[in-house]
Amino acid sequence: EVILSVRNLTADVDGIQILKGLNLEVKAGEVHAIMGPNGSGKSTFSKVLAGHPDYTVTGGEIHFQGKNLLELEAEERARSGIFLAFQYPIEIPGVSNLDFLRVAYNSKRKHQGLEELDAFDFDDLVRQKLDIVKMDPAFLSRSLNEGFSGGEKKRNEILQMAMLEPTLGILDETDSGLDIDALKIVSNGVNQLANADNAIVLITHYQRLLDYITPDYVHVMEGGRILTTGGKELALELEARGYDWVREEEAVAA
Ligand code: ADP
Ligand code: MG
Ligand code: MG
Repeated sequence: EVILSVRNLTADVDGIQILKGLNLEVKAGEVHAIMGPNGSGKSTFSKVLAGHPDYTVTGGEIHFQGKNLLELEAEERARSGIFLAFQYPIEIPGVSNLDFLRVAYNSKRKHQGLEELDAFDFDDLVRQKLDIVKMDPAFLSRSLNEGFSGGEKKRNEILQMAMLEPTLGILDETDSGLDIDALKIVSNGVNQLANADNAIVLITHYQRLLDYITPDYVHVMEGGRILTTGGKELALELEARGYDWVREEEAVAA
């Protein structure tokens, strides 16, 4: 089953073309890694998928579970099962992490035609999910992201994803700035969440994350396009040889 199909996608920010004909197909049960040098358009792609209003799609198609994603507002995309970590990096004083999770979770249930979970059942569920990221329950009563350390913000993203159980989870540089213990917890969380019915797209500049999460496909992005695709061994080759050889081989092939 194809979860995400991106064809010849072009997109602008502030009138500058960043995505220049991107193609990608992601099926259920797959983990994809998108790697590439800084400025290649990785974050732009994730924001375009999430429907960030600063980015204008100028051409191409995106289908999510067969639906035209480009017709949906950002909120509808989230409710229909796309999750972008870093979607909610904002600090919201006065809104507890627990309240935020409850609103996001119940809004998804409503979209699925289900009733809201009552406060007690919700509490039970959230505590189970806390185990996945090894977070202290005290963390739930703190204001969203306020004063969270870098590692706590990342673990919180995984907690959000564990609660929302998206069909497509997109993690943009979730590994950056993590120490090795936090990296293991985050990776372990992702591995627990990946299943036969969903798909994960990991965007990362470094190979390190892929020591803990084994992708089915590794894509190299450069200049707003996917230049080459391989298996997990491609990540190791990039680590050893950098990105220049990909460009050179592409230039020879073109
Ligand atoms: P990556 O995540 O691969 O490092 P980005 O998608 O963040 O790359 O950026 C791709 C290019 O788009 C860069 O040249 C960056 O400067 C530019 N860019 C991204 N966002 C904006 C923006 N809001 N305004 C102007 N340029 C932007
Ligand atoms: Mg799998
Ligand atoms: Mg980026």
